Amino acid sequence: MNNLYVHFPFCRAKCAYCALYSRAGSTPEARRAYCERMAEQIAALDATSSLTTIYFGGGSPALCDLSSLFDALRVRGNDCEFTVELHPLDAQPQILEKLMIGGVNRISLGVQSMDDDVLKVMGRLHTAAEAEAAFRAVRAAGFANAGIDLIAGWPGTTTESWRTTLARAVELGLDHCSVYTLIREPKTRLDLAVRRGELALPSDDAALAQIDAARAALAEAGLVRYEISNYARPGYECRHNLAVWRGEDYVGLGDGAHGRIGLVRTASGVETSVTSEEDAVERALFSLRTREGVSLERVARLWPILAPRLPAWHETLEFFKRQGLLQDAYRLTQRGAEVCDSILAELI
Ligand code: SF4
Repeated sequence: MNNLYVHFPFCRAKCAYCALYSRAGSTPEARRAYCERMAEQIAALDATSSLTTIYFGGGSPALCDLSSLFDALRVRGNDCEFTVELHPLDAQPQILEKLMIGGVNRISLGVQSMDDDVLKVMGRLHTAAEAEAAFRAVRAAGFANAGIDLIAGWPGTTTESWRTTLARAVELGLDHCSVYTLIREPKTRLDLAVRRGELALPSDDAALAQIDAARAALAEAGLVRYEISNYARPGYECRHNLAVWRGEDYVGLGDGAHGRIGLVRTASGVETSVTSEEDAVERALFSLRTREGVSLERVARLWPILAPRLPAWHETLEFFKRQGLLQDAYRLTQRGAEVCDSILAELI
């Protein structure tokens, strides 16, 4: 077992756009009991010493006292990439020190925007200045691998405001940046506000223009796009997410976690099985999202069960290549990145 994801479903407040499994208003007792349960599950895993990536996501993991999990994991040195997602309000010296002592060596800070008006409507509870101070605190605590998340396509974001967000983000000296396009998830406060006509989503073209501006600004700062929504300085790509996209196994613990071990999939603690062929298709194709793309030679070598599909996949991939959506054999072009899901759907 090389990769572990642990989910923490606790937040200070629910953000307007968020449909992830998480709850606001938890008690310290509930968080403590949850951590005890997670620590027990970690202790029951085989060979945690072989882990090469650990990812604590949420939610806001740092709302919990993570010491019992750190004890169960006993991470030593930097051979294991250990990421924790952090809300800017949690970037306090005593919390950061505990994370560092616990073996955490990579911080992903949820910033989302550098526009205070946007942050307010998002319900983020922090200002842009607080997000910047949080990132500096992360650096001051000694984290040499740190990045932020941003959301493109928020209602009413002007070109100017987005440019300012990107400029202030780049100014921080990021190692990594995730830029997600806003999705209007059903039953969120965002969805309700759009239905009531209080907020208007930008056109697809306007949202794509923001993604393009992000790509250009981050490239200028030395961050290369290595997956549709992810940019990193060379050597700072998220190894955990790359492992998932490359088709490796990963254990998922926690109420909102997904996992993949052999033919077993876990989602929020519920196990289901897939067939060998479904398993191979999933593992083989997800690397299309990354800069490495899909190599049919690799597929043939690692998943012989897919051999009968390869002639049809070759034909489909060549078709998309002629349309300018793929290059080489086979990686997404910039235009292809906008329609990756449709390409995957066609292949599957
Ligand atoms: S976006 Fe993050 S912080 Fe906000 S509600 Fe969702 S999980 Fe919690």
